Amino acid sequence: MMSAVQPRRFHLRTIFEQKCSECGEGRVFRGRFEMNERCPVCGYKFERGPGYFTGAMYFSYAIGMPIIALGVLIGKLLIVPKWPLHWILIASWVAFVPLGPAVFRYSRVLFIHFDRFFDPDGD
Ligand SMILES: [Zn+2]
Repeated sequence: MMSAVQPRRFHLRTIFEQKCSECGEGRVFRGRFEMNERCPVCGYKFERGPGYFTGAMYFSYAIGMPIIALGVLIGKLLIVPKWPLHWILIASWVAFVPLGPAVFRYSRVLFIHFDRFFDPDGD
């Protein structure tokens, strides 16, 4: 049985549903790209300081690069093996564009959760 005083841990469901790192209930985003400044349920301020979400870029690389690499691999091996590699890379980037909003959102949500995990008291 879980209790409220357990050490902080990652809640994969909360990250998957793009919810608040503190209460697990409030939504981080209110639109496709618009974030809530504060959690609508517990009031936690998501952006801890100016430029806070620069760190989320690392997560978007970590999410995006394997997807594009996989696209290049599939393109070269299965779809257009005779194309030059740079054309396959460009095609993979183009195919990746529709995933951009999801990558953007998950990179920020992941960053909020990781940051709160490793630096729970920072401001
Ligand atoms: Zn909350």
